[in-house]
Amino acid sequence: MAMILSGRDVTATLNEELKNRVAALYDRYIFPVLATVRVGEREDDISYEKGILSRCEKIGVRVRRYILPERVTQQDLEALIDELNANSLISGILLFRPLPKNFDEAALCNRIAPAKDVDSATDASLSSLFLGKGAGFIPCTPAACMKILAHYGIDCTGKRAVVLGRSPVVGKPAALLLLGKNATVTVCHSKTEDLAAVCKQADILIAAVGRAKLVTADFIKPGAVVLDVGIHWDEAAGKLCGDVDYDAVFPVAGAITPVPGGVGTVTTSVLIQNVIDAAERNAK
Ligand code: NAP
Repeated sequence: MAMILSGRDVTATLNEELKNRVAALYDRYIFPVLATVRVGEREDDISYEKGILSRCEKIGVRVRRYILPERVTQQDLEALIDELNANSLISGILLFRPLPKNFDEAALCNRIAPAKDVDSATDASLSSLFLGKGAGFIPCTPAACMKILAHYGIDCTGKRAVVLGRSPVVGKPAALLLLGKNATVTVCHSKTEDLAAVCKQADILIAAVGRAKLVTADFIKPGAVVLDVGIHWDEAAGKLCGDVDYDAVFPVAGAITPVPGGVGTVTTSVLIQNVIDAAERNAK
């Protein structure tokens, strides 16, 4: 039976730390502000936005929301990002993605000033993750995975880690972060042969594959630590589920994150941590 790695517990600890840092900034009349930019009314953007608003309110970070209709042009969005970059009252910028197909998303992301790129949308942030230096920020979801491991005192040194998924926002950065913690890392993807057997070698498995319940008990080394990044709606069960078949894996794993209440909840706190980091760096 696995130990449950509760994202809510990690978040509770992290939020206390963040509140103290915000209070210290307030004492210096510095107010961290996150600007969110949403185009259209996509349900998952709205739900993420709501989560950000309520978490920011608890921690004391202000949010300025920019909500634009889908008919807005690339030039309008570029002008808004330029304005937010230049506004010294804004600490960080989050552009909800994916944008509607008619936009050049990469160009818009890369227009965000790296010092304000709290969602790690720019190439500069990704290169600073790769090089271990620079002005950008680490992507929030893989950073949340590492926070969970650290919170529960799970040492990666010398462990065999497998990351299932190689997307630039989750899989690849997760692999680099694990490597930075001295794990021996394997990255799997849609062309990996004998996927279950490769995953079964993992002492630490991060599932970021975007396929509901793909990871079953036969992917799991007994006692392994399993972090489930996936978020899906399970129509049959009428509730959220992850990339991991939780009920099947729970008896085999040593520790596992639930969905919901796992990686996702920590991700929002990491985003807010990045806004506070940005405000602190800017104040120096
Ligand atoms: P993505 O861009 O779709 O990438 C999925 C990765 O999984 C790709 O590398 C793909 O391989 C690989 N893959 C897909 N099907 C596979 C299969 N059958 N066998 C082996 N590998 C397979 O997804 P993502 O943005 O990384 O997100 C992954 C999951 O995390 C999604 O469920 C998403 O909703 C969730 N998510 C959660 C959070 C959070 O905060 N919890 C944040 C972001 C995303 P190829 O590269 O070969 O195509």
